[in-house]
Amino acid sequence: MSNSASNFHESRISERLEQAFSAEEFRKNGHAVVDMLADYLDLAQNGKRPQTFPGQCPEDSAKQWQDFAPTETTLEMFQKVLDDSVAVHDRRFMGHQINPPLPISSLSGLVADVLNNGMGVYEMGMPGNSMELAIAKMLGDRFGMPKSAGGFFTSGGSLGNLTAMLAARSCKSHPCNEPTQSKFAVMVSDQAHYCVERSVHIMGWGAEGIIKVPTDDQFRMRTDALGGLLAEAKSRGIQVVAVVGSVCSTSTGSYDDLESIGKFCQQNDLWFHVDAAHGGAAIFSKKYRSLLDGTKLADSIVLDFHKVLLSPAIATAVVFANSSDAYRTFSHKAEYLWANQDEEWYMLSKRTFECTKSMMALKVYSTLANDGIELLDDYVTLVHDLAKSFAAIIDQSDDFELAIQPESNILCFRYVSSENADYEPLGNDSVESGNRLNAELRQAVIDDGTFYIVQTNLRGKNYLRCTITNPFTTAETFESLLVQMRMLVVEKASSQSDG
Ligand SMILES: *Cc1c(COP(=O)(O)O)cnc(C)c1O
Repeated sequence: MSNSASNFHESRISERLEQAFSAEEFRKNGHAVVDMLADYLDLAQNGKRPQTFPGQCPEDSAKQWQDFAPTETTLEMFQKVLDDSVAVHDRRFMGHQINPPLPISSLSGLVADVLNNGMGVYEMGMPGNSMELAIAKMLGDRFGMPKSAGGFFTSGGSLGNLTAMLAARSCKSHPCNEPTQSKFAVMVSDQAHYCVERSVHIMGWGAEGIIKVPTDDQFRMRTDALGGLLAEAKSRGIQVVAVVGSVCSTSTGSYDDLESIGKFCQQNDLWFHVDAAHGGAAIFSKKYRSLLDGTKLADSIVLDFHKVLLSPAIATAVVFANSSDAYRTFSHKAEYLWANQDEEWYMLSKRTFECTKSMMALKVYSTLANDGIELLDDYVTLVHDLAKSFAAIIDQSDDFELAIQPESNILCFRYVSSENADYEPLGNDSVESGNRLNAELRQAVIDDGTFYIVQTNLRGKNYLRCTITNPFTTAETFESLLVQMRMLVVEKASSQSDG
């Protein structure tokens, strides 16, 4: 027998590899994993897990996961992941801007992961490509954009905003005769998500490339300042290319006035981008969609489905008023992917940063197909209503105060009682001591782990911050958070006087 023949003989699938692909094993493990996750959902949604936030320091966590050959079974390993992760399905989860995904949407993630179609070209994800088109069209319609609107999905709001900014640059920058002399900039509120500034830096526009528009007492962009800032930029030789409206802002959930920004952009031939990563969800709520009035004037809009629209991360739509503009973001030749440079909606990688991408639209499509758009209305309306009722609870208590009345499902408040004045930070009403107290209080809450909340700093003052995304959270849940915080202050005060 020749050498090559024996080599051929040896290049057969190993038993181990074949076993790892066993459909029967998958069936068995799959049922067990689904059972485990269903138990988790049942406990979490009914507030029966001991903790929402299983705090662990980075060193301990790193040590626990450094060993790739754990002694436990794979199922036990999955259970450990579950136990050591934040339970976003727990009604006491009120932290960062991420929603508990709908179970049907999580299952569609599994379907997409098993199929593993790469999505970059039509042939590698036909259903997924078509779903992206359908959802982008539906969004364009809801946002009141023209018939020419269209778009696609990408990996997160940050990448979506960069994608839109690149298109804006390509469509609106008019480099003068000496391109190296051209300076470009984007105007955005000083409360915008940091990723807008990051996009500007990635585009190489430097610190001058971002013009921060001041905000009013509700943390909304002061649109009356736009004209002056534009003239000032011009006088410094900077060409403003776009204005970005934030709906809503990250810290306080404040909605910029999109109508005013849109009109300003029309009058001054500027690209109008709407960062609706979080607040775009309101478009599905009959009660709250007027917060988004003005989206019809946008050139581009970014919307995360994993923040307040019940999808698992990551599922972000980028919608352009003129879907052709999307092809201006990137123009590269890649003979191995595309036969031509034409605008082909079904060749996604012509417009997306990603080449390979997961079939993320399925996570949204499955919700719409299974539950219909009314479910999103129920949900978005509920979490906005909840934030308002929690604000009313704060308003009625003497020892906490609100930053602002919430417009969205984000609530910022701080502890301000002067009781327990033995406790040093409280005996002193300087801004620093109030800040220290609220920072310590937030730390004490997450050290305990029953609840999960976050914090922010607004104009020099520390606030406790909740994003209400869990539909099982109730006024009682929120009341018990306040009760716990009052107890933590008393504990701190007494441990200080003991010590
Ligand atoms: C969350 C958020 C982003 C970033 O989106 P990711 O999906 O986390 O990348 C951008 N802008 C706003 C307004 C946001 O709320």
